[in-house]
Amino acid sequence: VSFGYTDVAPAEKTRQVGAVFSSVAARYDLMNDAMSGGLHRLWKDRFVRRVKPRAGEYILDMAGGTGDIAFRLAASGAQVTVADINPDMLAVGIDRAAKRGIDGLVWSEANAEALTFPDASFDAYTIAFGIRNVTHIQQALGEAQRVLKRGGRFFCLEFSTTQWPGFAEVYDAYSHRLVPKLGKLLANDEDSYRYLIESIRRFPDMPAFEAMIAKAGFVRTHAEPVLGGLVAIHSGWKI
Ligand code: SAM
Repeated sequence: VSFGYTDVAPAEKTRQVGAVFSSVAARYDLMNDAMSGGLHRLWKDRFVRRVKPRAGEYILDMAGGTGDIAFRLAASGAQVTVADINPDMLAVGIDRAAKRGIDGLVWSEANAEALTFPDASFDAYTIAFGIRNVTHIQQALGEAQRVLKRGGRFFCLEFSTTQWPGFAEVYDAYSHRLVPKLGKLLANDEDSYRYLIESIRRFPDMPAFEAMIAKAGFVRTHAEPVLGGLVAIHSGWKI
């Protein structure tokens, strides 16, 4: 299991990821805008359009953090549970929801690898920019499969590997040089942003990740590249 540039024991990765998100929680939303030039908002809009949430259905937004996906899902009238391992991220999310007058969300501290929700609890499971931070990804996909109802759908938004020639090099230079500097400037935390970039680099590419989703038992799996695959939307169905 890797954390940043080094290989560490699984429990140590989980602990260090916790420290990263506790450290960035207060500045997380500002940093997302700064690092993506606001693009993450469009990616999240597109992602939620793919999910097609409907009033009354039950949706689990895993690794939901400060609520960006959950707020979009809840606008449809769906019953949304936001689950995240990190209480500091959830606290920021609860605060944001209150300020925006969004109520009815359920907030739950939970590890994606070991959920306490009963089998077949949800119509849809979403995870945005979360799965690459999970220590045992295959286990988390298995849990997604377990808590979904038959006919339930799985959607994942995550950084991937762009296939556009030239763009990969520009992005690589941007991410390795500029992002840690932005992290230092705006959040006084260079190391956390170095971890975030490194975790993107190490995440499986689209076909490899799609195969993991299929291995967890999902069918009709699909990978949709955004910006040549810089970001990808993966999906699958439980039957
Ligand atoms: N989904 C939100 C968004 O798109 O803005 C937050 C994404 S944030 C980059 C990643 C989140 O994954 C953090 O809030 C972190 O606490 C959470 N996370 C990391 N490991 C987790 C795990 N094993 N189980 C649940 N959440 C986890």
